[in-house]
Amino acid sequence: MNENELKAMRNSFSTVKNRSHPILKEHHVLKLQEKVKNIKKEAIKNRDKLMKQAISSFKRNDIEVFLADDDEKARSILNDLIKDETIKTIAKSKSNTLGEIGASKFLKSIGCEVVETDLGDRILQLKKIDNKPVHPTGPASHLDVNQITEIVNTAMGANVNPEPKEIMELVREDVLKRLENCEIGISGANSIASEEGSIVLIHNEGNISIVASKKLHIIIAGIDKFVETIEDAVSIAKLETIYATGSPVTSYMNVISGPSKTADIEKKLLKNMYGAERVVVILLDNGRSEAIDECLWCIGCGNCILSCPVYNAVGNEFGYNNYLGGRGVAMSSFIKDNEVSYDSGLFMCTLCGLCSFNCPVSIPTNEIIENIRDISQNKGFYPKAHGKIKENINKKGSPY
Ligand code: SF4
Repeated sequence: MNENELKAMRNSFSTVKNRSHPILKEHHVLKLQEKVKNIKKEAIKNRDKLMKQAISSFKRNDIEVFLADDDEKARSILNDLIKDETIKTIAKSKSNTLGEIGASKFLKSIGCEVVETDLGDRILQLKKIDNKPVHPTGPASHLDVNQITEIVNTAMGANVNPEPKEIMELVREDVLKRLENCEIGISGANSIASEEGSIVLIHNEGNISIVASKKLHIIIAGIDKFVETIEDAVSIAKLETIYATGSPVTSYMNVISGPSKTADIEKKLLKNMYGAERVVVILLDNGRSEAIDECLWCIGCGNCILSCPVYNAVGNEFGYNNYLGGRGVAMSSFIKDNEVSYDSGLFMCTLCGLCSFNCPVSIPTNEIIENIRDISQNKGFYPKAHGKIKENINKKGSPY
C-alpha cells in the first residue's frame, strides 16, 4: 500500500472508531458482548458435536453438504458443482473463506465470470492489481473517491464524476446487467445454527439476497462457524455489526434453512419458487482442527486492526490473505505453515496487546503470536537480525 492509501485507510478507520465508540459502552452492548463470548467459547469447545448436528439438520432441510479437509478439496468440490452448468456467470458475495480458498481466481481459471456483488469488493475487482482488501467489512477503505472514480471509469470505459452516488449507480447497473442470466450464487456464512440447520448471513446492500436467489447457491463456511441455535447466531451477527460499523443492526439478515419451496396449492410441496433450487454447503477445515480454540472465537468484526499500530503503519501487508492483522497472521500458521506465517508478519507484531484489548471476544492474539513465534523460531523461521543477536550472545555473552 502506498502512503496515500495508508492515509485514506487511517481516516476511514478513525470514522468507524468515532461512530462505534459511544455505542460500545452501552449496557446492552456490554451484556451482548459477554453473551457472545460464552457462545463462541462453548461452540468452539463443542465444534465436533455441533458439526455432526448441523450436518444432520442440513440433510433434514434438503441442504446438500460436502466436507473439505483443505482448500484444494474445496476447489475440487466447487468444480464438480459448477462444471455441468451452462451459464458460467457467478454472483459472489464478500467472504473471507472464499478468499482463503482462492475461489475467484480458481473460478476464473475454469472459465467462469465471477461478479462481485458487494460494492467495495467490486471496486477492488475492477482495480485489477494490488487489490487486496484492507478491512473485513470495508474492503476498499483505503481508496478515496477520486481514486475510485478513476478505477471505475478506466475499467468500465465510463465517465462518472467523483460523486459516490454516481459511482454506486454505475456499478449497480453494470452488476445487475451482468447477472441477468446468472444461475449460480456463491457466498460464505456468518454463522451456522446447528440445531435448526440454518445459515445466517448479514449484509447492508441487499446483495446477498441476490446471491441466495440464484438457482444454485453454494455456501463455503469454516468449521468454526457452528453455534447451537439461531438465537446464538443472531447474537453474533448483532455484535459483529456493532463492532464493525457502529450501527446496532445490518439492513438485512438472511437465514437460509433450505431451498425455495411452497405448499400453497393443495398443501402439496413444490420446490423452486423464487429462491435457490439447490443449496449446497461446503464445510472447510483447512487447518482449523489444529488451531487453538481462542483463535477460532473470532466473529470477523475487524475491530482489532483499527487500533493496531503495525496495521496502521503498513496496512494489509500485516496479515494473511483476507485475514488481516495479528489474528490473521496467527491463523496463517494453522491454515498454511510457519513459513507463510513468518511471511505474513509474525515478527512485525509489537505484542502491545491492543488487539486483544479491543476484541469483543477477548482473543489473546498477542499471546498466541508469542507462542507461534516460539514454534516458528525452532523451525528456523525468524528474522536474520534476531539470529545474529542470538549468535553473538551465545559466542560473546553480548548481543553486539
Ligand atoms: S480478532 Fe476479535 S477484534 Fe479482530 S476481527 Fe476477530 S473478533 Fe473482531
